[in-house]
Amino acid sequence: MKDEKTPIEELREKLFAAPKHAALRMEEEEIERAFEWCEGYKDFLGSYKTEREVTAYAQKLAQKNGFEEFDSSKSYKSGDKVFFNIKEKAFILTVFGKRPLSDGVKIAAAHIDSPRLDLKPNPLYEDLELAMLKTHYYGGIKKYQWATIPLSLHGVIIRKDGSKVTVSIGDKQGEPQFVITDLLPHLGGEQAKRSLSQGIKGEELNILIGSLPFRSDSGSELVKLNILKILNEKYGIVEADFLSAELELVPAMPVTDIGFDRSIIGGYGHDDRVCAYPAIMAAVDCPAPEYTTVTVLADKEETGSQGNTGLSSAFLQFFIEDLAKTQGLEGRDVLRASECLSADVNAAMDPTFPSVHDRLNAAVFNRGIVVTKYTGSRGKSDTSDANAEFMGKLRKLFDDNGVVWQIGELGKVDEGGGGTVAKYVAHLGVDVVDVGVPVLSMHAPFEQIAKLDVYMAYKAFCVFYNQK
Ligand code: MN
Ligand code: MN
Repeated sequence: MKDEKTPIEELREKLFAAPKHAALRMEEEEIERAFEWCEGYKDFLGSYKTEREVTAYAQKLAQKNGFEEFDSSKSYKSGDKVFFNIKEKAFILTVFGKRPLSDGVKIAAAHIDSPRLDLKPNPLYEDLELAMLKTHYYGGIKKYQWATIPLSLHGVIIRKDGSKVTVSIGDKQGEPQFVITDLLPHLGGEQAKRSLSQGIKGEELNILIGSLPFRSDSGSELVKLNILKILNEKYGIVEADFLSAELELVPAMPVTDIGFDRSIIGGYGHDDRVCAYPAIMAAVDCPAPEYTTVTVLADKEETGSQGNTGLSSAFLQFFIEDLAKTQGLEGRDVLRASECLSADVNAAMDPTFPSVHDRLNAAVFNRGIVVTKYTGSRGKSDTSDANAEFMGKLRKLFDDNGVVWQIGELGKVDEGGGGTVAKYVAHLGVDVVDVGVPVLSMHAPFEQIAKLDVYMAYKAFCVFYNQK
């Protein structure tokens, strides 16, 4: 039996915006499918933790799916798939569409670097017969969160002879891990008087890596010597090789379901692999789009997108110019007609800390992907504010295709703020808006996202790529 709606209920339904839990807007079968799909994401999140590892993964997956290395001297037809590798730290996947490039391309740009601790160029020392490594943190972190958690070490070392060693230790079963020590509370009285941001200071982010001496009756720094001997045997390196290395310490906690209902995923580096993974999958799953698609996996977002693997560099512009060349076009004509989803996470409202958000304009878990019209701070400074026309188009596209979405600002006005790659893509003349997954505990060593939200990100990228 269905109750008749009262006139006021009808009017309310017609006029009010009514954001709703994704689970109440999806068929049961789709919810199941979403949870299943997330198992692939969990594997990815736990296995590829750095920009280099994600790049290598993306290239392997692309090749398995028929993508070939892009060659600007070739000509391509609809359905052809190419990839472009930027210094092994950023990556582009492109599927050629039915329409000419003069109609523009559809870009989804996520970043694949996450906050972490980088080794300093001269990191190794011994003190109190303990071997330690000095770090310099990368991206915005609350430093106190990184002490007394298991860490793993990832990256590359270029030896003096030019050869490259790839390092990954601490994440596989049975491998040793590393840790930053902290004071015991009994002696932490003075430390407790520090401000939270100084709880652990930058120069206190030192990594414990060993305690056994090289067995000898004479000589100093025998623990350091013993560690270098182990490193030399394992990787063929000497101390000076740290200078030509990029070694990153990342949290080594396993990826896991959170909650009795298993609706949430906890893990390191959801920001922004929770957007990168659905974007990669959309690129791979979308065989012959109407428009050419360009999936960008960028590095260096967490430090401001500077450097030649970050999106403030010209790598995307030059790639589009090279694409344009294959059809005898100018890059700028392609860019002018193009659209981009800047795929990055936004802050989900935390019931324990709601005061930093404006409830009317904050993202919450499970209401789908967040569309963020602008980021920035201090009166919309340092951001790209998406055009109403593009917002309107996107809104219709998502609504017509069952993408559950919500709006979100990054916190209250003047509460803080942040930025994404959106402004760098906007700089090229492309229509761009931020779209992404809401995250709890963002930039912590162990972040949380809701399964239905990341699934909706995947659906959103597919819909964006498949639009007519
Ligand atoms: Mn991000
Ligand atoms: Mn971030």
